Amino acid sequence: MSGSLCTGCGYCCSTVICRTGAMFYGHYSDPCPALEWNGSRYVCSLFLSDPDRYEHFLDIGGGCCFPENPRRRQAEG
Ligand code: SF4
Ligand code: SF4
Repeated sequence: MSGSLCTGCGYCCSTVICRTGAMFYGHYSDPCPALEWNGSRYVCSLFLSDPDRYEHFLDIGGGCCFPENPRRRQAEG
């Protein structure tokens, strides 16, 4: 895992679709259709649809891939 936990800010997935998402949806356009707000954080509906299949491909639990992004920093105060 990287040094920072994922806070669910959604910045990464709303900025650019990941490779797994692009392969699944067949395009590299933004935003990723799998990105959903669950009322408290952004979640990946592709992962939720089949956690066993996508956990490894999406590095779930692997930490934040973009810890210095402005949305995450703003939420941290
Ligand atoms: S498939 Fe999931 S992890 Fe990948 S960009 Fe879309 S919402 Fe994010
Ligand atoms: S930018 Fe980092 S904290 Fe925000 S959703 Fe992506 S991995 Fe999680």
